[in-house]
Amino acid sequence: MGQEPTATVVAAAPPVKAKTSPPLLKKKPKASTRNSEKVPSSAKGRVVHAVKTGQKVFALTFDDGPQPRYTREVLDILKRNHIHATFFLIGKMVKEFPKVAREVADAGHVIGNHSWSHPSKPKDPVAEFRKTDTELVRVLGRRPDLFRPPYGLLHNGLAQTAEKSGDAVILWNSVGADWSKKATVGSIASQVLNLARPGGIALLHDGGGNRSNTVAALPRIISSLRGQGYRFVTIPQLLRISPAVTLPEQEFWKKNGLKLKPNGKFEKAQTKPPTTKPAQL
Ligand SMILES: [Zn+2]
Repeated sequence: MGQEPTATVVAAAPPVKAKTSPPLLKKKPKASTRNSEKVPSSAKGRVVHAVKTGQKVFALTFDDGPQPRYTREVLDILKRNHIHATFFLIGKMVKEFPKVAREVADAGHVIGNHSWSHPSKPKDPVAEFRKTDTELVRVLGRRPDLFRPPYGLLHNGLAQTAEKSGDAVILWNSVGADWSKKATVGSIASQVLNLARPGGIALLHDGGGNRSNTVAALPRIISSLRGQGYRFVTIPQLLRISPAVTLPEQEFWKKNGLKLKPNGKFEKAQTKPPTTKPAQL
């Protein structure tokens, strides 16, 4: 819709109010000091769909947690396979399940902000963003520098707030469509694998619903990509390997099976070729 972002610049998470929100950590997790976990300056304030590289590197990302059952099942699979991934956490879920959020961080995975309540039309995008950062600082001792907009939407003020605060806005170029009611273990695995490319980012979910199919698909995805010679990296590691790629927005939605209309709404992308011959352009 081209609406102007209402966000103001967010320089950093506000100081924690000790009276109402005591820090849950006595000391910061070791992982927070690891340089490889920080987004390189070239990616700050940018929208990222993938990176441009010939190296067989691939980033698994998990959204909408932390959730006690599925997040832990995903963590177990990643641990067994010695893989580090990136988790985009919903602030109110972190508040509800801080222990699970800490388990994700303590296992060495990278954590990003995925808004407080996962709105498509946030009334106060700055608060949605900052409240989550504040909760992550309280629970994990560290402000993230990655943001994933709910539903991949870039024009509702949330992504703009994240960009202005210096976060990299991370989208994806490989989806399992694990949110679909029609998704099966096989469809999730085959979609991710079909779309996997060197430097790619896969979107999967460990929260937001029944994710047992995602959990069951994950070992297949991992073993198939490993068999093809891929190694798995976190988003900051991926961004340190090669420059970020930002796809034209329409192309991004097309890859997701959707078409973004000028009014900001979506329709299903046409999957069959048009019956009439397209004009030569
Ligand atoms: Zn989400």
